[in-house]
Amino acid sequence: MRIARIIALFSVVVLLASCQQMPLVGTSAALSAVPPSATPTAAESDVGKQALEYIRVLSVDIGPRDTASGAEERAASYLEQELKAAGFQVGRQQFPVPVFDAQVSQTAPQQHAIDAEPLRFSMTGEVTAPLLFGGLGSPDELSNAGMAGKVALLERGQITFQDKVVNAARAGAPAVVVFNNAPGPIRGSLTATGSTIPIAGITREEGQALRDALSRGTGSLSVTVRRSQMNSQNVIAEIPGTGAGTVILGGHYDTVPVTGGAVDNASGTAVLLTLAHKLAGKQFPFTVQIIAFGAEELGLVGSQAYVSDVVRQAKSQVIAMVNLM
Ligand SMILES: [Zn+2]
Repeated sequence: MRIARIIALFSVVVLLASCQQMPLVGTSAALSAVPPSATPTAAESDVGKQALEYIRVLSVDIGPRDTASGAEERAASYLEQELKAAGFQVGRQQFPVPVFDAQVSQTAPQQHAIDAEPLRFSMTGEVTAPLLFGGLGSPDELSNAGMAGKVALLERGQITFQDKVVNAARAGAPAVVVFNNAPGPIRGSLTATGSTIPIAGITREEGQALRDALSRGTGSLSVTVRRSQMNSQNVIAEIPGTGAGTVILGGHYDTVPVTGGAVDNASGTAVLLTLAHKLAGKQFPFTVQIIAFGAEELGLVGSQAYVSDVVRQAKSQVIAMVNLM
């Protein structure tokens, strides 16, 4: 993202928000209305260098910033420190994040621990039972398969995880293990409706090995899904306005696991910090809130926590938001 274009965009937001006619702006749509500037000036390229430095610190020095991890918290501290250096009073909004953990192990014909990933919104619980392969988990495959009381081993694909687990529960399975249809672990989620039985994901290789072993004889599996609570935080700086209403500039700073997240979303966070420096000490006819959201990658948990806080406290009306995603 070109910083100069974002700053130009913010001017448009200020103008429109002054008329209080704009409920929400997505950056990509609005950006197309801002003509690209010519060769950057020396001041503009200094701003660009600083923005790149923010990205480097977040994605290289701090690195992967998994939701609710220590690294996410270190990133929050860094953002706080930078916003304070820009002259802001900075607040933290802390909120709980539900985190799931899954364990799978083969208990017969041999003992073998299997790396497993939880599927978000799974029912929690611990089940040990005979294992039965149920194909892709369609009702046709499961209804007459003798699935009652058996852990259903299902292959990923064709229908959603949610449909698989619902079908398996209907067929009487006390738990589901779904294996990937591509290399690598499964990272997935049920719908927020969740499931009535535990479900965990394993790799294609482990799943195929279990399926092949079943074709030669019986086997059993133990599946455990646990849910615990971790903490995350939004970092909030504010420029009090001379009039009513609030304009929010926001972006998330957590990442999916393993990646340093230079693009998603250290780049947006860097633009946010750059804008903060540009806006510090200025006055607007409305309050400006600069918010770095935590826990976005697990389902917008940080922004939901922010919205419920605004609703609960009946804080001043939000008239516009620019999401640097
Ligand atoms: Zn993202």
